Amino acid sequence: MKAVLASNNKHKLTEIKTILAGKFEDILTLKDLGIDVEIEENGKTFEENAYIKAYTVAKMTGLPSIGDDSGICAIALGGNEPGIYSARYAGEPCNDANNNKKLLDKLHSLEKDGFQADRTAYFQSVVVLCYPDGKYISGSGRTYGKIIDEYRGSNGFGYDPIFLSDELGKTFGEAVMQEKNTISHRSRALKDLLDRMQMQNGN
Ligand code: IMP
Repeated sequence: MKAVLASNNKHKLTEIKTILAGKFEDILTLKDLGIDVEIEENGKTFEENAYIKAYTVAKMTGLPSIGDDSGICAIALGGNEPGIYSARYAGEPCNDANNNKKLLDKLHSLEKDGFQADRTAYFQSVVVLCYPDGKYISGSGRTYGKIIDEYRGSNGFGYDPIFLSDELGKTFGEAVMQEKNTISHRSRALKDLLDRMQMQNGN
């Protein structure tokens, strides 16, 4: 099966293409198809947003499409912030440095008078494979870590430099992509999706 990735985020595209290598006949990007589209993400959950992206692109191209919606969730901020608003947490347009600063500022504001906030956080990803008729299969994945004050490493994107992975013992900014892919929310969500696709095919 051929599939189109419903994202313009270069980092996400590289990660997803690497993780799915050999699993599809061909993985195309919007750029490969000469499509320039900004999809409005007005869902209230990661699932809804991933579906909106995948369905929009499947309808436009007539091909199955894979959408990913993801973000970081800080336990001290109630567990759903920045959440689905991670990309534009500090406002439009999307700016990783401002988003990281806003998240750290919010945690610092809770840490007055020697109180240490819970720095536990997780990245969440939901991926949806949607067909042009609107039918879909989804997968989800999570990975836990701590939000640290220091920016460590220049790999990856988004919140990677301030996310100290519990499993890797380093930030995602310090990890090379192959390491990140072994435990990341996105790789787990894609693995979950592939398992569900196999189940549907009766294998
Ligand atoms: P989306 O494109 O609407 O799904 O926004 C995802 C946003 O969540 C990104 O712009 C990042 O801010 C954040 N995010 C999601 N996955 C990652 C990741 O693997 N590393 C760092 N930040 C991420």
